[in-house]
Amino acid sequence: MMQRLAVSTSQIQGESLTLTQAQFHYLGRVLRLQKGDRFIALDGQGGAWLAILDQKTAQLADKLDFDGELPVAVHLIVAMPKGSGFEEIVRQGTELGVASFQPVWSDRTLLKPSEHKRQRWRRIVAEAAEQCERAVVPTVNDPIPLHQALQNRSDTTAPGYIAAARSPQTAPLLTVLSPQTQQLTLVTGPEGGWTDSELADAIALGFQPVSLGKRILRAVTAPVAALGAIAAYYESPSILKQ
Ligand code: SAH
Repeated sequence: MMQRLAVSTSQIQGESLTLTQAQFHYLGRVLRLQKGDRFIALDGQGGAWLAILDQKTAQLADKLDFDGELPVAVHLIVAMPKGSGFEEIVRQGTELGVASFQPVWSDRTLLKPSEHKRQRWRRIVAEAAEQCERAVVPTVNDPIPLHQALQNRSDTTAPGYIAAARSPQTAPLLTVLSPQTQQLTLVTGPEGGWTDSELADAIALGFQPVSLGKRILRAVTAPVAALGAIAAYYESPSILKQ
């Protein structure tokens, strides 16, 4: 497989890519590429090129058609689990096609992630995007309170779903998805679950409570299971969607 390199759009001018010192070191010393060798440059916003290494620059030869994106933009709001749980969620969520992550504080969430930790999430997402061959690197927002995240939904006509275990009002996730959807928001809770008032607040703001099955999933498992169902639904031929 050809080596891949994440770059930023500011490094690209016309057909020339200016490498940073770290990238130059990585290509030359770590990957042992030489002048004239090829690699794939990804700008994180959907742009991908076949690049040819020169000295501290590379020539961008062909624009590549990379399409690792889901046909629906999935925005994931997650009450941060304990320990390194959110790291697992951003890694696996990226693999499953999430467009953006919004970590939140909820009534039963205590975590106060450091700046270092937040940067680590962004690194993990960039690595995961590279590994799973997505040309788009999902965004990871800084944590905000749940209520604010629920209110921030940019397009309120787009569906929002809140995963709730043990709630009598839930419909199975797969039965509420709709093929016409361009973007959706999915919300999953912390180890201790949602409080009644959080669930009522989400419903009042237009989020539909959904079930992920009869079993109680861990806070890390729930978003991954839901995203697997969403990806399968939107990437299936019409059969699933009738
Ligand atoms: N401790 C809680 C469960 C929390 S599970 C209890 O005992 O009730 C963590 C989060 O995962 C929940 O807030 C919910 O968002 C999601 N979740 C877990 N299992 C689920 C299921 N079967 N259906 C829907 N959501 C689920």
